[in-house]
Amino acid sequence: MRIYGDNYFSSHVCLISFVLLCFWATTSYAIDANPTPVQAEINRLVDLSETQKEESLKQLIALQNQLPADAKLEDQRDALIGLIDLYIKNEQSVPARKQNADLSALGVRYHDNWSSAMALNFQAVFLQNDGKLDQAKETIEQALLLAKNVNVNKVTNRINGVAGSIYQDLGDFEAALQHQLVAMDSLEEGGRNAVLMRIVVLNDIGILYLSLKNPELALEYNAKATKLALSVDAKSKMDTLAINRGHAYGAQGKYADAMSAYKEARNYARRNSNVRSEVVAVNNLADVTYRMGHYTECLQYAKQTLLLAEILENSSDTADAHVNIGLCRMGLGEVQTGAAEVNLGIDSMRKANAKPDIEMVLGKLASAYEKAGMYREAYKAQSDQIALTTELFGKERNRTVSEMKAKYDAIQSEKQIEVLEQKTRLQSVEINNKSLQRVISILASLIAVSITLTILFLYRKVRETNHNLEQANLKLAQQSTRDPLTGLLNRRAFHEAMQFRAQITDRRTPADTSLSHALVLLDIDHFKRINDKFGHAAGDKVLIELSNRLTVVMREKDMLMRWGGEEFLIFLNHIPIVNLQQVIERILVSVGGKPVVYGKNILQVTVSAGYISLPQGAESEVDLNWEKSLNLADSALYMAKTRGRNQAIGIKKVDVPKEEFDELLQGDLENSIKQGKITIEQIAGPPQSDIVAEPGSQG
Ligand code: GH3
Ligand code: MG
Ligand code: MG
Repeated sequence: MRIYGDNYFSSHVCLISFVLLCFWATTSYAIDANPTPVQAEINRLVDLSETQKEESLKQLIALQNQLPADAKLEDQRDALIGLIDLYIKNEQSVPARKQNADLSALGVRYHDNWSSAMALNFQAVFLQNDGKLDQAKETIEQALLLAKNVNVNKVTNRINGVAGSIYQDLGDFEAALQHQLVAMDSLEEGGRNAVLMRIVVLNDIGILYLSLKNPELALEYNAKATKLALSVDAKSKMDTLAINRGHAYGAQGKYADAMSAYKEARNYARRNSNVRSEVVAVNNLADVTYRMGHYTECLQYAKQTLLLAEILENSSDTADAHVNIGLCRMGLGEVQTGAAEVNLGIDSMRKANAKPDIEMVLGKLASAYEKAGMYREAYKAQSDQIALTTELFGKERNRTVSEMKAKYDAIQSEKQIEVLEQKTRLQSVEINNKSLQRVISILASLIAVSITLTILFLYRKVRETNHNLEQANLKLAQQSTRDPLTGLLNRRAFHEAMQFRAQITDRRTPADTSLSHALVLLDIDHFKRINDKFGHAAGDKVLIELSNRLTVVMREKDMLMRWGGEEFLIFLNHIPIVNLQQVIERILVSVGGKPVVYGKNILQVTVSAGYISLPQGAESEVDLNWEKSLNLADSALYMAKTRGRNQAIGIKKVDVPKEEFDELLQGDLENSIKQGKITIEQIAGPPQSDIVAEPGSQG
């Protein structure tokens, strides 16, 4: 057990799993429904091994020697399995392997999968203890296949337990947990041995959870196992359980709790005279105190470890103890002596060719040098470590990735300097990244803002443009001089034309009678009826048709306007007075001379008209302007309507002084005519055919 390291748990795993393998190897027999007398005796001896492992081994050897050559297969098999278990428990590897060869031969001779499966199981255990994890894994997988065939709970349980342990060593904790859970499922109820087995499985699952960095669940399973162990007074399990509890607390950073757990473990070990277990407990005490920075205490525990290791005559433990003592001394500031002691440990590891151990120690040494500020030495130790790492992992290319990962996990935490350097490098990269990210995000937000602003600007622009467009359209509509339906000029056009004319007019006097202007106001007769009877579209059609017909009648210099709904205004420009009557007739004929065809309908349409020539009487156009004149024309039109429609009434002469014009306009036309103030003429429209007469065609 080593104390160097943050990753102290990983460094503990190997040892702990060894202890558990002993459990697996010894708790072989759950309950047989009907054990033979030999089996019953074997079971008794296995129970006894819990407290008297040497004595029970002695008795089991005697039992096997007494077995006849033709003894029952199950007796021979159980005797062999029991013996192998007890040899392992007594750390006698050679006779254990010899007995296992016999077990394997038994399986072949009797075609007994049970024996063969168990032989493979033990072989896997030996390979695992030899550190040949790949082969161990291969072997246990074969055992698992056979175990499925055998389909006996206790076989399934044991083999899956070992498989779990091997996968755990390989660092494949998930697979390990799967096997342990199968092992737990296949546990049989009843009997002390079954309970002991359950304790082992629960403990193993706890360890796996710790490997999976879940100390909380580890403690949960440990508590279950401990409770069971206390209930059956399983003293032999208490120390291991306490050690694992200590590991879980350590992983939680609860060093004080970890310490009391390890002390508990040490006390159990002492009570059971289990020196091996005591070494583990004390070594862990050294570890946890080192981690707490309590170097004096650490040194005491490390020295105790050395003493115990020497009692055990275990060179590996001794080497570990030297390393630990050295590290504690370095922590205390005795850097030179400490380093020398560490190197003592390393030397003895070299003799055992324990390269992975050396590799790990070098990492710890580098770290201790670094803490002491001896960077050159730290660098040297780390270089040695890296060389060894390369050698180790370069050689073992056939190792599985998970194995590599497990090993690297263990090693990496040792390589603090390197990690620190990497961290620094990483951090600077991260910082660069972050500042780059910041720049990017600033740019992104700037772009976003500018895009938003641009969009906003464009939106405003579009809205403004739309608004302007609307205004322009409105203005255009207002300024438009054309009627959309007929395409004729409208009122506005005429107003503008008249304004323009007022500025440039020749201001002719009435004396000039050769040429005149004339305003002709037309209104379709009974137009409403057309709409009502044939629809609005028919009315539109009529409006369009009439505007076309009137256009044909007009000269180029005349102006034809749509004055209102179904009213037209014609401005006859410079028309010889003598021609006026004829032109009016033509106008009336152009409308009423032939019907308007609308689909299948023949529409008889006529107009009434009122007209006036300009200027009038003695007044210039300035005095009797076009608006006033138009009013008179309108009155004439009204008269035409009242006189029967389809006719025109013309104001021939206005004979009043200009002061009376307004009065004349407001008064009744009929009266003015009677008073002789106004002279009119009447022009009849074309006669309307009875055949095509429509209800509204006649006045
Ligand atoms: P009168 O002979 O007395 O003039 O009778 P009238 O029916 O022609 O006169 P009134 O003023 O009673 O009806 C005019 C109708 O002209 C009312 C209106 O619905 C219609 N009108 C106005 N403008 C349009 C237009 O652009 N298209 C259509 N189809 N009908 C219109
Ligand atoms: Mg009208
Ligand atoms: Mg009308």
